[in-house]
Amino acid sequence: MAILNENFLKLKAGYLFPEISRRIKVFKQNHADADVISMGIGDVTQPLPTAITEAMKKAVAELGTSNGFHGYGPERGYDFLANLIVQHDYKSRGVDIETTEVFISDGAKCDTANIQEIFGLENTVAVADPVYPVYVDTNVMAGRTGPSDENGRYGKIVYMPCTAENDFSPELPTQQVDLIYLCFPNNPTGAVVSKETLARWVEYAREHKAVILFDAAYEAFITEDDIPHSIYEVQGAKEVAIEFRSYSKSAGFTGVRCGYCVVPRQLKAYTKDGQAIDLNSIWNRRQGTKFNGASYISQAGAAATYSDAGKKQIQENIDIYMKNAGLIRKTLSELGYEVHGGVNAPYIWLKTPNEMTSWDFFDVLLNKAHVVGTPGAGFGAAGEGYFRLTAFPQPNNVEEALRRIAKL
Ligand code: PLP
Repeated sequence: MAILNENFLKLKAGYLFPEISRRIKVFKQNHADADVISMGIGDVTQPLPTAITEAMKKAVAELGTSNGFHGYGPERGYDFLANLIVQHDYKSRGVDIETTEVFISDGAKCDTANIQEIFGLENTVAVADPVYPVYVDTNVMAGRTGPSDENGRYGKIVYMPCTAENDFSPELPTQQVDLIYLCFPNNPTGAVVSKETLARWVEYAREHKAVILFDAAYEAFITEDDIPHSIYEVQGAKEVAIEFRSYSKSAGFTGVRCGYCVVPRQLKAYTKDGQAIDLNSIWNRRQGTKFNGASYISQAGAAATYSDAGKKQIQENIDIYMKNAGLIRKTLSELGYEVHGGVNAPYIWLKTPNEMTSWDFFDVLLNKAHVVGTPGAGFGAAGEGYFRLTAFPQPNNVEEALRRIAKL
């Protein structure tokens, strides 16, 4: 008899986006002609920059030649890309990362999901609330949590509420936590934190021998000068943090797939008898067994994001999204909504009007404006009463959606 991993039964039935799709489907059955504008799922809409498509075409052509053929690549990814990452994403900000500390992957979702595997089940996990659901659900699947309560909060997880009162920046835990997921710029709230705030987290982690899992998937959207792009800008962070990056939103790779994480050599976790073990080699071992690398074509495309033309072209797309974000912020504020985010992130986090629940506001927006957003409650109990809009749609769709919201 095959026994199930019963932790899967603890997961809440409907993951957020399937429930959104279900409601849209029901709506469309009754309103076949409605032109529904999606500002819900955080997927990009601008086509890939030509610097990237040209690099990928060249890579494909190479693969069709005897000299240029590439089979299985190095498990940590190609050095041609890792060297560019070290140079452009870190050295340029005064951070020293070695090529062997970079692990190229097919995106930050897999990395942020898989990383928990290298840690013991007895670790206490801390997450922000609201939160990108992947961090929580993968820990549930692994058996690091108890069942969920009526608010959808799982036992044993330490939830750190992020509200307007704390500027959507979680307070330091008052108890021992061992694995801390932080995401800045944040999905869903669009919040960022200062270097001083990150330094307090690094200090906490050093004091408590904890590891920070820092998701920087949206760092390219930072527009303000004094906001850190990497946790390693904080001194001592290499001893306590793993950082995740993605080309998905910055360079339009949601379909192409490429990302990476940095596991510094100084970073340790401990055996039960207190022996310090280097996590870089453990993650290398894990990836070597379970992952065969991002495709050569994706990595060639990712490398092109660092060329002069690539940098310029991806920035043009980011500017389009951030212009959308600015317009959403401005219009909704003028309409009297309380809006957050959208300055250093492609997400706008708005307070639902008249104390509506976030799903009720979802239904109103869908039925009356034919606009889809994401209910805050889907990201955690503290997201109730909030709503996320993304800045990724085409600008004309954003303008039209805002016109319709204005008429509500
Ligand atoms: N991390 C955060 C916070 C995200 O919002 C997302 C995607 O929406 C990801 C990671 C996943 O990115 P990728 O497409 O690289 O898997």
